[in-house]
Amino acid sequence: MAAKKRYNDLNSYLRNLYGCRVQKITIDAGLTCPNRDGSISSGGCIYCNIRGSGTGAHANGLTVAHQLRNGKKSLSKRYKAKKFIAYFQSFSNTYAPLHQLKHLYEEALAVDDIVGLSIGTRPDCVDDPVLDLLQNYAKHHLVWIEYGLQSARDATLAFINRGHDVQCFRDAVEKTKNRGIKICAHVILGLPHETRRDMLHTAETIARLGLDGVKLHLLYVVKGTRLETLYQQGGFKCLEQKEYVDLVCDFLERIPFEIVVQRLTGDPHRPELAAPAWSLKKSETLELIRRTLEERDSCQGKYFKR
Ligand code: SF4
Repeated sequence: MAAKKRYNDLNSYLRNLYGCRVQKITIDAGLTCPNRDGSISSGGCIYCNIRGSGTGAHANGLTVAHQLRNGKKSLSKRYKAKKFIAYFQSFSNTYAPLHQLKHLYEEALAVDDIVGLSIGTRPDCVDDPVLDLLQNYAKHHLVWIEYGLQSARDATLAFINRGHDVQCFRDAVEKTKNRGIKICAHVILGLPHETRRDMLHTAETIARLGLDGVKLHLLYVVKGTRLETLYQQGGFKCLEQKEYVDLVCDFLERIPFEIVVQRLTGDPHRPELAAPAWSLKKSETLELIRRTLEERDSCQGKYFKR
């Protein structure tokens, strides 16, 4: 008998759409972020380092098309993937003049076997012209926009220097809806001074916004960030693996099953990681999440009430 599906995972969602393995390829388009370039602040979010979650590929001279061709080669070998999504990940990928964004997105869509775009950005970095552009691509491609929310608690957003509040995220979601663009929220579990109740409040908030996807991240400490200073001074403690696993399961139980779960933990870059060491054990953490849901005989949406 097939195992019960405990959550709505991205791989199955993409396989259902395309009938084959589809992988995202991470792109560094060389953009920046208003929370780093001085428009909002120059310090950035307290956990972000100079690479802005990027691969550094742009700095190494690789074009979008080049990055995609490299990604295709390795991911088709590793996962037997046949189709791909260009994932603009580093910094804020709607934060540039429209003509530059159009050029970057269309360079990606012109590469063979690229079936869609996933655009990571901030909720304060979208306006109607960029959404019109994406809406147009969404007529023939799969288009996701990924907004960083991180927490639905304004005091936390201020503490981590996000530079926007929860209402800003709500407004971006409203602006994006009904355009054929899929909307994903990024959430971080374990932010300083957040309680379990705060994190579940974030789950309950996003559960009611009609989102299409969510990415859950563990807060880990990257060397050279303000978060590292806070951590070294004893200003906050990282979650233990078991705490994180339980929180992820609690979170999933509170969001509707239709939401595609694109990620269940982060992917620290080993040389840059200060803590916690267990965050490098990604497959172990995923297995523990799976097992915990099984032990609870639970699944995504169990406690979501319409
Ligand atoms: S919004 Fe993203 S890129 Fe900008 S400072 Fe925050 S984490 Fe870094």
